[in-house]
Amino acid sequence: MPAPAADFQADVLAIAAHRDDVEQTCGGTLLRMAARGLRTTILDLTQGEAGTRGTAAERAREADEAARILGAGWRQALTLPDGSVENTLENSVAIVRILRLLRPRVVILPYWQARHPDHAMTAALGYEACFLSGLKKFDTGTEPHRPFKIVYASLYADVRPSFIVDITPFIEQRHLALMAYRSQYADQSAGSGLFVPEEEIRERTFAEARHYGLLAGVRYGEPFVQKEAGLVDDLTLVPVQSL
Ligand SMILES: [Zn+2]
Repeated sequence: MPAPAADFQADVLAIAAHRDDVEQTCGGTLLRMAARGLRTTILDLTQGEAGTRGTAAERAREADEAARILGAGWRQALTLPDGSVENTLENSVAIVRILRLLRPRVVILPYWQARHPDHAMTAALGYEACFLSGLKKFDTGTEPHRPFKIVYASLYADVRPSFIVDITPFIEQRHLALMAYRSQYADQSAGSGLFVPEEEIRERTFAEARHYGLLAGVRYGEPFVQKEAGLVDDLTLVPVQSL
């Protein structure tokens, strides 16, 4: 995807370890934000070379197609090693440069506890990069920028979300974005003992979205955790019915 215009400023940047992570954990949210006219962007830290199926080049094409379906204005993948994302200064600098280029108000990271070490490491690395990006004296030569808000996409984690985003109108489009990864998800023989067929992916991802939707009284939802307390202006307008 081409570089953004000089005055481009992202509203939302989703950072994930692997291509196809954001499609599964916050794709509906990105669609919802784009539908509101906000500028959404995606940074994948690895190129997906460790995957059983498909090549990194195939995944790059698929990731671009998925970004188009999600309405994201910019997407890039760094070249951190797939399967061993590490919290190093060099990796922080690479992310800081992207943060200072896109200048997002909100950053979406994976939840910090995860079965896949790359996901947990991405949360730590992304958080530190957001902090360092605000320091004038860090990696001088680029204008500092600190995102206002960090939220953690918690779909992969078994934790109670702080809030749910209603993705009901966008669930089919989100599924299309995930299915753009033909090399990973289309029914095929390579690695078929390891991968679930397309129909099962649909059933599983819709069931997860339904589960989180039910928690908030909507049909389909995506879960997020925020570390801060929420702030309320008017008690009569707080959504989600108690009983
Ligand atoms: Zn992943």
